[in-house]
Amino acid sequence: MQRAQAEFMNFANMGMGVIEITNLDSEGATHPGEARHPLQQMMLDTEHKLRTALDIPSSYRVLFMHGGAVGQFSAVPLNLLDDKRKADYVQMGFWTKRAAAEASKYCDVATPVTFDKRIQPVAEWKHAIRADASYVHICANETVQGMEYLEDPEWDDTMPPLVCDATSTLLSRPMDVARYGLIYSSGGKNLPAGLCVVIVRESLLAERQAHALCPQILDYRLNGGGLTPKSSVFESRPNTPPTFGVYMLGLILDDLLGAKRGLAAVQKWVASRAAKVYDAVEASGGFYSNNVEENSRSHMNVVFRIGGEGAGDLSVEKRFVAEATEAGLFALFGHPVEGGCRVTLYNGVEDASVDAVVAFMRAFLARHR
Ligand code: PMP
Repeated sequence: MQRAQAEFMNFANMGMGVIEITNLDSEGATHPGEARHPLQQMMLDTEHKLRTALDIPSSYRVLFMHGGAVGQFSAVPLNLLDDKRKADYVQMGFWTKRAAAEASKYCDVATPVTFDKRIQPVAEWKHAIRADASYVHICANETVQGMEYLEDPEWDDTMPPLVCDATSTLLSRPMDVARYGLIYSSGGKNLPAGLCVVIVRESLLAERQAHALCPQILDYRLNGGGLTPKSSVFESRPNTPPTFGVYMLGLILDDLLGAKRGLAAVQKWVASRAAKVYDAVEASGGFYSNNVEENSRSHMNVVFRIGGEGAGDLSVEKRFVAEATEAGLFALFGHPVEGGCRVTLYNGVEDASVDAVVAFMRAFLARHR
């Protein structure tokens, strides 16, 4: 953020900031014979860094899109259904419900399995997948329910392609991209807000056609062109890309590949931070409670109820959030309707903040148990 601040009004000595440049020539150079436009170079560099961090195979395209993950709830069916018109959605909570509801506008949606407090191995539910489904959709981390696949699910080519909403977990651990047909993630978490990254197996798009009514800005075949090498599948971009978000992602990846030493090291760091918060829950004698099975507990969002035998006491939870806010600890509220509390541990949260919230939890327990 300090580097972005320093460059905000003068990116690459252009006397302009990234946020005010719109003119991107899809051919690469601003004029024939000139060097590539610095913004185009930055977009390519960011893609390269993301490919390095996640070890993305060359058979996958990386797209920088608008519209957040909610936009992808529509983009996925509009691009991948082709003529099959069936899709299976694994249910895990708030966001998977919303993804399935959006897809049901376009196709016949079935839910082969619903996880409650435990993510079941694929072997337990793969028999329920419809062989003629266009794809199977999962959410890698249910931000609201605090449940996460800590390893990539076992998946093979005999099953419909696996589509993954990785919004609240991407860049917290290495991922075996080859297991997925498509991974998407929006920002405001480990990625910057205003950007949605899509990683898609190119052959999937070559085999299938987008829905005739798919808007240009949601069409993967259009959004992979321009700044990345062209192919028979990809044409040029439909509009101005989310350049500032891509720029910020590049800076995040510099830190991730540099000081943070890559995703394998990040995974250990992330697990150790989550363990501190779960330890505070476990050591509270039931005052704080989280009933997600241990191996399904999210490392990004620790959810818990306070004060009442697993169910929680809304008045104590409100007091927890109010006292925390007073102490300078923000956004500890859980689901606005269901109640509960949530400690969010995205990569941008400093270690000192994690320690501060754990100390606060212990002090609140001592005051209110
Ligand atoms: N999926 C998940 C798992 C999320 O956590 C969120 C945002 N909290 C979304 C989708 C929606 O993302 P956006 O607001 O960027 O559309």
